[in-house]
Amino acid sequence: MMRLPWFRYRAPRTAAEAAQILAGEGPSAMAIAGGTDLLPNMKRRQQVPETLVSLRHVAGLNTIANGGGLTLGAGLTLTEVVAAPVVGENYRALWQAAAQVATVHLRNMGTLGGNLCLDTRCNYYNQNYEWRKAIDFCLKKDGEVCWVATASKRCVAVSSTDCAPALIALGASVKLVSAAGEREVSAADLYHNDGIDYLTRRPDEILTEVRLPPAPGWKSSYWKLRRRGSFDFPVLGVAVAVRAAPDGTVEDARIVLGAVASRPLATRAGDALIGKRLTDDAIAEAAAKAASRAKPLDNADLDIYWRKSVVGEFIGHALKEIRGDDVTAARVRYARHALEIPIYPV
Ligand SMILES: Cc1cc2nc3c(=O)[nH]c(=O)nc-3n(C[C@H](O)[C@H](O)[C@H](O)COP(=O)(O)OP(=O)(O)OC[C@H]3O[C@@H](n4cnc5c(N)ncnc54)[C@H](O)[C@@H]3O)c2cc1C
Ligand code: SF4
Repeated sequence: MMRLPWFRYRAPRTAAEAAQILAGEGPSAMAIAGGTDLLPNMKRRQQVPETLVSLRHVAGLNTIANGGGLTLGAGLTLTEVVAAPVVGENYRALWQAAAQVATVHLRNMGTLGGNLCLDTRCNYYNQNYEWRKAIDFCLKKDGEVCWVATASKRCVAVSSTDCAPALIALGASVKLVSAAGEREVSAADLYHNDGIDYLTRRPDEILTEVRLPPAPGWKSSYWKLRRRGSFDFPVLGVAVAVRAAPDGTVEDARIVLGAVASRPLATRAGDALIGKRLTDDAIAEAAAKAASRAKPLDNADLDIYWRKSVVGEFIGHALKEIRGDDVTAARVRYARHALEIPIYPV
């Protein structure tokens, strides 16, 4: 049985108090929300904070404010996000992403803020302490070498958050609060392409809310590839948002890929759709452009060549869903097909 290491536990009631504690304790302290990512990581000794600053009782983190866009408290559980009618109606990609995170139990505990700050993942890292020790650890924690790219000085662990690509496609921003003040950054700018230093959020900053712009004219969709349709982290996430004129001409479009780099990958491929209708040809062109940016590495589940080969198809299905096509059969086919793919190439 894996046990948690010892830690001190603080339970502030306000964001200002939480920020003061984080500032005072320095990098040995970490915020904890639902704990669904952090606690397993602590059990595996991947993250060993001396102090946990709980956000569970911090006032104001569980609110939803609708008006001039939508503001979601970072402490909302994913279940609460999915249950909010305004999310399902106006921000479909976020609804689909949040609804597909993990399992019901984990969504009942896991929060939106925790999902955005989720640690990057890798087959050589998401193992218990003894397993990692047997390979002399790796660059991300306690070791000297990256086993995925041995010549690399940079960890290439995978950004595995479902909600981040959706929020980037929807043009969201986040509010970060520290003892030094507060700032707003776009969701796209919250990430570095670095498996270790993957957030631009400083360790003393608390993510307090997610702000979504008004969505008139926008439609969005999120597609996720994973082995088990009811459980797993994404090995590919595709978030697409399109704003079209009443006659169907695309005025703006964003295509964002998840789980193909250490950060969510915002592509410029949506520009190829502007001024056109969502015809099969226009969709195929934009999908091919975006897919060419995806360079999955051999450090996540399922065969990388197959993962790479379905990126364009996923984008195509997401765009067709936005167009109004019935894509149920494709969603079911991918969920079943993933089960038939071997973990390693044979
Ligand atoms: C079996 C399993 C399957 C999973 N599948 C998925 C999946 O399919 N997709 C997916 O996206 N995730 C998945 N997860 C990960 C996790 O459950 C979710 O991402 C969840 O939303 C994390 O939220 P949390 O509140 O539990 O985060 P925590 O574990 O509390 O925190 C995660 C990280 O975020 C930081 N943090 C949390 N809240 C804040 C805040 N407000 N401000 C600053 N820092 C903060 C913590 O310090 C920590 O570094 C899975 C986890 C498990 C165990
Ligand atoms: S990508 Fe390399 S350094 Fe990063 S977790 Fe995997 S093996 Fe370790």
